[in-house]
Amino acid sequence: LSSPTFSEEHTQFLEAKGLDWIEDANATPAEKLIEFSGRICYLSFGKGRQAPGSNSDYIRKLITHGHDSVLEHVSWSFLLAGVTRSFTHQLVRHRIGFSFSQLSQQYHEESDAQFLPPPGLEDDPVLFQRWQEAVDRLGSVYRDLLDSTSGVSGMPDREALRLRRSIARSVLPNATETAVVITANARALRHFLDVRGSVLGDVEMRIVSHALLSRLRPEAPAAFADFVVDTMSDGWPLVRKTDRGIRDEP
Ligand SMILES: Cc1cc2nc3c(=O)[nH]c(=O)nc-3n(C[C@H](O)[C@H](O)[C@H](O)COP(=O)(O)OP(=O)(O)OC[C@H]3O[C@@H](n4cnc5c(N)ncnc54)[C@H](O)[C@@H]3O)c2cc1C
Repeated sequence: LSSPTFSEEHTQFLEAKGLDWIEDANATPAEKLIEFSGRICYLSFGKGRQAPGSNSDYIRKLITHGHDSVLEHVSWSFLLAGVTRSFTHQLVRHRIGFSFSQLSQQYHEESDAQFLPPPGLEDDPVLFQRWQEAVDRLGSVYRDLLDSTSGVSGMPDREALRLRRSIARSVLPNATETAVVITANARALRHFLDVRGSVLGDVEMRIVSHALLSRLRPEAPAAFADFVVDTMSDGWPLVRKTDRGIRDEP
């Protein structure tokens, strides 16, 4: 949805200080912003002040030295659509460096909501059928509860509608499709991918982690260079840091 940019205005600041940054022509705007922000700490711009090395070497050094607060200066916004409420319930537990705007079940009627089967369930037609029947029934109860006028007499229409939706949504399952816009910085995203990308039994989380990493890598390859993608025996991807094993329990 939206990516970091890096304006050329920094040159005015550096010129005024008599500094001449040797920029890496291969760096992306996000990577330039990270490097610039890191170098500001010591005004380490220019010959004699910049240790030899590329932008990616510099960012790797920031990360390995634990100076990864510098990665907080670059952030991205994503629309995550076609995800379930169970996924977003876990997602919004991430408190630091994340912002969320999610489809409301109080202000938005969910009569037409889709229910998304857990990845792989369709491979078992009998279980899938039982799952389908269960969510169809819940969808039908949702609509009945929404249509009911019980308990709302005397309320302004707007509040009555909100109450009916609140009552009705209580039966919506975790499988209910939702959409959420997230904005997160590189440090927070790295932490998210680290703790969430390789939980073997959490396939939807792994799929989203993989999708996020696929979008992030071209944006700031150096900031995500220590993540690898594996395809597991279940056929779904897994994202993990190279220094981290696969998580099979918390
Ligand atoms: C495999 C797995 C199983 C889980 N199971 C459960 C479960 O059964 N029940 C459950 O409730 N949750 C569960 N969670 C969620 C987990 O407890 C965290 O709430 C969630 O992963 C967010 O992680 P976080 O706090 O590291 O991230 P963020 O909230 O984004 O925080 C990032 C980092 O900031 C620092 N930080 C944030 N807040 C504080 C603070 N208050 N004090 C000090 N440092 C802070 C920490 O270093 C933290 O790692 C599970 C998560 C995983 C990955």
